[in-house]
Order: sequence, then C-alpha cells, then structure tokens
Amino acid sequence: MAEFGLYIHIPFCERVCIYCDFYVTTARKHMDGFTQALMKEITLYAQRYPDASLRTVYFGGGTPSYLPAENLNTIMNQLRSSFDINQNAEITLEANPNNLSYDKLRDLRDIGINRLSIGVQSFREEDLKFLTRNHNSNQASESINYTRAAGFDNISIDLIFGLPEQTLITWEQSIAEALAFNPEHVSVYNLTVEERTHLNKLVQQKKIRVQDEEIEREMFLKTVQTLTKAGYEHYEISNYAKPGFRSQHNSSYWQGLSYLGLGPSAHSFHDERRWWNVRDINKYIEILNADGVLPIDMTEELNVQQECMEYIFLNLRKKEGLDIGEFEKIGGFNFFETFKNPLEKCKEFIIGDNGRVRLSDKGFFLYNKICEEFVSAL
Ligand code: SF4
Repeated sequence: MAEFGLYIHIPFCERVCIYCDFYVTTARKHMDGFTQALMKEITLYAQRYPDASLRTVYFGGGTPSYLPAENLNTIMNQLRSSFDINQNAEITLEANPNNLSYDKLRDLRDIGINRLSIGVQSFREEDLKFLTRNHNSNQASESINYTRAAGFDNISIDLIFGLPEQTLITWEQSIAEALAFNPEHVSVYNLTVEERTHLNKLVQQKKIRVQDEEIEREMFLKTVQTLTKAGYEHYEISNYAKPGFRSQHNSSYWQGLSYLGLGPSAHSFHDERRWWNVRDINKYIEILNADGVLPIDMTEELNVQQECMEYIFLNLRKKEGLDIGEFEKIGGFNFFETFKNPLEKCKEFIIGDNGRVRLSDKGFFLYNKICEEFVSAL
C-alpha cells in the first residue's frame, strides 16, 4: 500500500510580493472553479492509488489562508472521503497574518488543520514594506496571539534575512520578537533574487543593491546560535524545531519519501519518477473540467545519476547529512573515490562521522556551492 505526503498548491494571493517566484494569481474569481477542479484531481488520484494512505497534508501556496474556510472545508471533506488519512496526521496550512482573524482560525481548527505556518517574514515595518508584504508588524503579532487563543499548539513562524537595509542588529530584533511567542517551529530563509521576479528587475536596473554576502553569513550564523540556545533543533538548513515538532511533511521530502502534489504547478514524486502539473490556473481548470484527466505537464524518470544528485541535494540539507552506505547502494560506486576532490576542497565545511557526511553551520551557508562541487564530480 502506497503512503504519501499530500501537497495542495493554493495559488491565490492578494498581491504578488516583489521577491516571489512561486506560481500565484491574484484572480480571486477563480477560487470556486479552482476548488471544483481540485475535487476532480483528488478523485483522479484516489482512483490511481485506491489503497493509498496519507501521512501528512500540506496546504501551500500562494496564500491558502486567503481561500474562504468553506472552500478549505470542501477540500478536506473530499480528501477524507477519497483517502485514508493517518490518525494524528499533521495537517498544515500556510497563512498570512492579515487573513488570520480569530473566527477564521476557529474555522480552520474545526476543518481539521492542526499546524499553521505563518508568513510573518519580519516584525519590522521597513522590512515588510520592502518585501511588499500585505501585513504590518502589529497584524503579525496579533495573528500569532489569535492562533494560540483559537487553540493551535503547533505553529511555525517564517522569517527572511538578507534584506538590503537589514542590519545584524535589526535582524536579531526580529528573531527575538519571534521567540517571544514561543513558536514550536521557525523557518528562516535567506532572501534570494530569483530571475522571474520584480526584485530581479530592480536589482538589474541598479535601483536596489543586494545585501553583502559576509553580512548574510553573519546573520545566518547568529540565527543558528540564537535559536539553538533557545532550545530549537537546527534540523535542516532553514528549519528549526522544538523537540518533537519537526515539520513531518517537509521532512518527508528530505527523506526521499513519496508525495503527491495537487493544484497548478505542484510537483509529485513516487517510484523514482517525478512529475509536475501545468502552471496556469486556466489551463489547470480546463484540463480537469473538459478532459477529466490529471493536469500533468511533464513526467521525468530518474536515472541513476539523477537519483544520486537528488540524494546529495536532499540529504546535505539535513542536520543528519547523508548516509554513505545508502548512497553507494543507489549509485553503485565508491563514495570516497568519486568525491575525493570535493571532499578535499570543502573539507573545512564537512563533518564525517558514523558512516555519514554532513555540513557544518558554515557549510550550510555555502550549501549551493558545495552541492555544485559534489555534482560536478559525478
Ligand atoms: S504571499 Fe507568499 S506566495 Fe503570495 S506573493 Fe507573497 S511570497 Fe508569493
């Protein structure tokens, strides 16, 4: 019997943030059509995997909290009637502070959401304006208080560092403000300038300068130090959890477990194959309504080399690092011989123990560069 983590991409946002590279749309008028199409997609997957059970459910986006509670309830009911959802399954919803009224939160609890990932990003007004977020710092604080009042005992706060005008001091203040709410989980991302974003245009036009890499490194190391001292386990490059509160859904990606992704642009992985849906919401709705088939854009069968690359990418993100024996089973070649050069070149950032190889904190900051070294040796 196949077991999956289920991801649902809710692509709606009130506005598109300057740095956002996800597939999103501001066309609210599609919300009901999208919900109906998604119901069909759920049914089609239940037919494809009739004995499947769901380990976790994750509503990501976009801004899932922007979708009315009735639509989310309809989706959850469809999932329950189509799949066997594990008892005590983690059911996460990504939320923006400006959508989190006390009443909405009560509704979300009633629907069965038991974990919230809140896109706070910063508690500083200037940072939120720069990021063109749709909430202010008061709303951020207020919404977190409401989550507790509504009975949520598993929340994650998202923060972003590396903004051009951020300093080490203002960044530390943002972390301290987040910790004051004693969240079970904190995700901390380094602002990156993605090609398809408005931020990239402004950087190209030299209207915005990017943050200095040395300052970003200091911010990252300060974050690790502060959150670890506060009792959080740094279990993945960007993720920190109180004991027992690692994100089960996201952890399953890094463990290479099977997952299904529903909704426009969502990715799936099962049986060494990955596939992804069409990005465009109109196409997504049209394919499900008119053709009654899964709205898959592309499927890719992983060859051994790709499997090895995937294994390195995923496992070097984790605190536990990669298991050399497991890697050799996948690749069929000797780890130390194959990676002699990258291991030597990156040795000050790599820790080896008990048949595993993992990155140090400084290595985590250089994750992309180190992965490139490994991959080029394959
Ligand atoms: S709220 Fe999130 S998903 Fe929506 S535009 Fe902003 S960054 Fe992108």
